[in-house]
Amino acid sequence: MTTAIYTGSFDPITLGHLNLIKRASRVFDRVIVCIMYNKDKQHPLFTLEERLRQVELVTKRFPNVEVDSSDLLVAEYARLKGAGVVVRGLRAVSDYEKECQMALINKRLNPELETFFLPASEKYMYLSSSAVKELAMFGADLSAFAPREIIGEIEAKYSRKGRKE
Ligand code: ADP
Repeated sequence: MTTAIYTGSFDPITLGHLNLIKRASRVFDRVIVCIMYNKDKQHPLFTLEERLRQVELVTKRFPNVEVDSSDLLVAEYARLKGAGVVVRGLRAVSDYEKECQMALINKRLNPELETFFLPASEKYMYLSSSAVKELAMFGADLSAFAPREIIGEIEAKYSRKGRKE
């Protein structure tokens, strides 16, 4: 059985992330989506608890997908979970260098771990959590970018705090 992990901040989860999760769940027996929270991003829009709930909500239709969170290094986390694969998404060329560097470091730290890159689907090539937040700030329609179950929550963050700042 091959277990793959898919890590990220998911602040918030986008349709681009979800597309990757769906594709990975068709290829690997078990996919663990892990929210990594001990990172540079000090001021997330959503708390870890909120993100966990959101990711669980939008992935519950995939029976072989689990949701978790961790502050470990990816290489360590994978070892702990018995995962042989880490899945990463590649959008524009700009992702490539950073992702390759990370893959090499992870391999050095955990030689059993392979990084699998999935190209972003054409529809979501330019989609990021930051873009979703920016659009939300301007009150744009998010339906082509964020899972419908969490659009209300994203909008609510900005209707409460946004206009004042
Ligand atoms: P990080 O903080 O690690 O960049 P993200 O939540 O932004 O966390 O992204 C997690 C993973 O999802 C990364 O591999 C990233 O390349 C991938 N990803 C993000 N957006 C998309 C998208 N629109 N299409 C495909 N992959 C994506």
